Amino acid sequence: MTSCRLCGSADLVGVVDLGATPPCELFLTAEQLDEPELTYPLHLRVCTSCWLAQIPPLITPEETFTEYAYFASYSASWVEHARKFVDSAVERLKPSFVAEVASNDGYLLQHVVERGIRCLGIEPSANVGQAAKEKGVPTLTAFLTPQTGAAVRAEHGPADLVVANNVYAHIPDVVGFTEGLRALVADDGWVSIEVQHLLTLMELNQYDTIYHEHFQYYTVASAQRALASGGLTLVDVELLPTHGGSIRLWARPSGSPSDRVLDVLAREKAAGLHDLSGYAGFADRVARVRRDLLRFLIDAADEGRTVVGYGAPGKGNTLLNHCGIRQDLLAYTVDRNPYKHGRFTPGTRIPIVAPERIAQDRPDYVLVLPWNLREELTAQLSYVHEWGGRLVFPIPHLEVV
Ligand SMILES: [Zn+2]
Repeated sequence: MTSCRLCGSADLVGVVDLGATPPCELFLTAEQLDEPELTYPLHLRVCTSCWLAQIPPLITPEETFTEYAYFASYSASWVEHARKFVDSAVERLKPSFVAEVASNDGYLLQHVVERGIRCLGIEPSANVGQAAKEKGVPTLTAFLTPQTGAAVRAEHGPADLVVANNVYAHIPDVVGFTEGLRALVADDGWVSIEVQHLLTLMELNQYDTIYHEHFQYYTVASAQRALASGGLTLVDVELLPTHGGSIRLWARPSGSPSDRVLDVLAREKAAGLHDLSGYAGFADRVARVRRDLLRFLIDAADEGRTVVGYGAPGKGNTLLNHCGIRQDLLAYTVDRNPYKHGRFTPGTRIPIVAPERIAQDRPDYVLVLPWNLREELTAQLSYVHEWGGRLVFPIPHLEVV
């Protein structure tokens, strides 16, 4: 990678190099276990001009998202999060047309449909978008580009509210995508974007959220520049606990930043993320997380204790691959998504089975890979304690509960 995708600067500095791993959503079928598997470097760098943290765009979104394994509705807490957002946004903004980019399986827009408000989802994965249509959510199978945005505007009119959650990191063409948002939104409308916050990623060692689908990692400062590149102004920001720490950016075609924006910018500056100081030392902390987890798993194996995984999220695959964990250390992992059952984790080839297996096998430890859903999963997995089993959280540092 020779230049920054946002500002074009050639001054990119390495933050952490996680080695080479396969794409994290490419779960293998049994037949594929005998086939070669491609891996791609996973090296996070930060631009010292605009401070956008980024990885090289080695896998195109077209390769990843044409048939996608992620269905948002499998997370009850995520659906509830979306419902609360719709409730408050509709109350406050009273939109008559809502557009959502990367609308997935209709987990969010279903709440807009329920309220009788006109909406349109724009979702590139046909298999995921089909699930939305079955819920009664109008869905266009497309990637957002300036052209798609203009075509939707021409056909449906400008949107009073454009929602783009968990997608702003997934698009290598940040500028084109932002221009697409600008094309969708009315001149006096609102764009609401949720994306992981680099501040919490760095502070809480969430290095496993670095994977090939996430091309860039935002501070509010770099997000502000990215929005401006496509003609949008950041006017407000909320800090959210989702995904271990996210920002909800509120942008408009014109306006000025609120005090909350200035406050978060000041926190980022204090954390050293607007210069190189905050990025130094991150690679050492990542190495520590890896050693602690491996030590725990090796000791458990030596003591004859059983360890199984919970969840097969994308981030789990960064962690498993970076740590070099194979089936001798983690017998299997379970997932609620039936699409993944009978498949194997990319690279590490750990079998994925249905969650019921845990109660049957009564393992000594359950390693929780989607640690961001800690509260939800601690409640869901409370039955593990019935046989003296314990939950293990690898991030921000190893904890056995
Ligand atoms: Zn830059």
